[in-house]
Amino acid sequence: MRLAVVVPCFNEEMVIESFDAKVRTVLDSLPVDYEICYVDDGSSDNTLGLLRELAEKHPGGLRYTSFSRNFGKEAAMLAGLREAEGDAVVLMDADLQHPPELIGKMLELHSRGHDQVIARRDRDGESRLRRSLGRAYYRMVNRWVDVELADGVGDFRLLSRRAVDALLSMPEQNRFSKGLFSWIGFDTVTFDYTNVAREAGETKWRFGALVNYGVDGLISFNNKPLRVAIHLGLVLAALAALYVVWIVISTLAFGVRTPGYATLLAAIVGLGGAQMVMLGLVGEYIGRIYYETKRRPHFLVKETSAPTLALNRIRTNIGTVGTGNAVSTGNREIGQ
Ligand code: UDP
Ligand code: MG
Repeated sequence: MRLAVVVPCFNEEMVIESFDAKVRTVLDSLPVDYEICYVDDGSSDNTLGLLRELAEKHPGGLRYTSFSRNFGKEAAMLAGLREAEGDAVVLMDADLQHPPELIGKMLELHSRGHDQVIARRDRDGESRLRRSLGRAYYRMVNRWVDVELADGVGDFRLLSRRAVDALLSMPEQNRFSKGLFSWIGFDTVTFDYTNVAREAGETKWRFGALVNYGVDGLISFNNKPLRVAIHLGLVLAALAALYVVWIVISTLAFGVRTPGYATLLAAIVGLGGAQMVMLGLVGEYIGRIYYETKRRPHFLVKETSAPTLALNRIRTNIGTVGTGNAVSTGNREIGQ
């Protein structure tokens, strides 16, 4: 059994070494051949330097790829999955918030035939505001979205080879992993663990980024928000029709009166607002089409420890996905 551990890293110089040591200790105690695939997501600190050192220390057991700039965690995970070989892949964060000890349990569940083994964290240690916002969000999303998105379920999981291949076969530019994981299906099992605080460094999520991520979750996987726009329009039109009937009747019964300045203003402002929201929504979908049609590569590689291999994979991916191009210059390459 060969296992690959994929780790996206963005400015993780404070933890990367202790992460590597801890994961190795755990993996050494398990009956697997393993390889750790680090993806440096355009860090501005010394993360890449540390990865080079680690690669020298563990030839064969470590692979790293470094992006030309920060492309985001989704792109980093994609790169790691493309690079990872092996019968199963574990995705985990570099900050030790995903306890390495759980890999053993994941492997055990995998050996019982599960293709996706998900570790779900509780919300211990989060601020009450963030916790209740999170809960409310997932309740709303699951009412709307076609694929199930579970609270507390992040990217920490084990994927079998065929689950990884399924993920890689999806060519979309806009990669909302939580949705993709859920969309591919396969035999999935979830177990819980207690949330742990980041070992060092700080979270890369700002509140604004979280809100954007939330919108992605709503929009990436379905067109129900557009449906809602239609329903809302119908309801408003029906209410307007009723109001007209009421005005006609009251004019016939009581004669002409011309109050209604407030009503008029409220209606104009309210409807204007609703229209803007709906327009924004439509724009959001069109924007996604725009980005999809560009078919840009998801990331650019600046440096990698496995150039020929990475290049082959890039070529293969061009074959299957049909985007981007690859240029090789010595041990560096640019590709999708
Ligand atoms: N990460 C990344 N690119 C980014 C942001 C984050 O590769 O643009 C990595 C980061 O190094 C870490 C993981 O994604 O390994 C999770 O990030 P973080 O701990 O900041 O998120 P949180 O745990 O707070 O959700
Ligand atoms: Mg974290």
